[in-house]
Amino acid sequence: MGAPTVFLRTTVCNLRCAWCDSEFSFTEGDYIRLDALMEKIRSFPAQRVCLTGGEPLLQKQSFTLCERLLAAGFHVVVETGGSISIRGLPKHQNLSVSLDVKCPSSKMEARMDWDNLKALAPGDQLKFVIAGRADYDYARDVLRRHEIPCPVIFQPESGTKLLPLADWILADGLDVRLLPQLHKLIWGDRRGV
Ligand code: SF4
Repeated sequence: MGAPTVFLRTTVCNLRCAWCDSEFSFTEGDYIRLDALMEKIRSFPAQRVCLTGGEPLLQKQSFTLCERLLAAGFHVVVETGGSISIRGLPKHQNLSVSLDVKCPSSKMEARMDWDNLKALAPGDQLKFVIAGRADYDYARDVLRRHEIPCPVIFQPESGTKLLPLADWILADGLDVRLLPQLHKLIWGDRRGV
């Protein structure tokens, strides 16, 4: 977080989170060949690429794209909603998975592929978007039930106050990182190119 990064957003999502802030990604977008995409990514002054969506794991070419980006020396983060297996992604020291666990406010918690938690590695991260106390309790209970080998992020849902969330985390002594969406603090809802 905070490092210059190319955000690459794929079209289509199999989920419909109640608070989704990128519904345009369900249908909008253009087809682009991998060669042209690599060229476009190289045109930005960044060594990191965040592959997000929509749901990037719905695109078969995402796996090939990750391999090409890694071969070209990029650090790659794949952001995924948690409902599709991450096991097909390349194992590489420069590839990290940012895996969501959807909390009750999303109305998508039943879609979680819990086997994904077992596929996480120390260089990955597990993320919960928290919209209130019920979500916090859900996330805390997930952490108590599962061994998580990587950092855990609690991200306040847009409009959710940070202070109560910080108080709950400290009261429970949870070893998690409370992080807002930095790009929204900088650019708001402005869309990229
Ligand atoms: S997984 Fe992401 S893109 Fe899909 S509905 Fe949820 S928030 Fe929106």
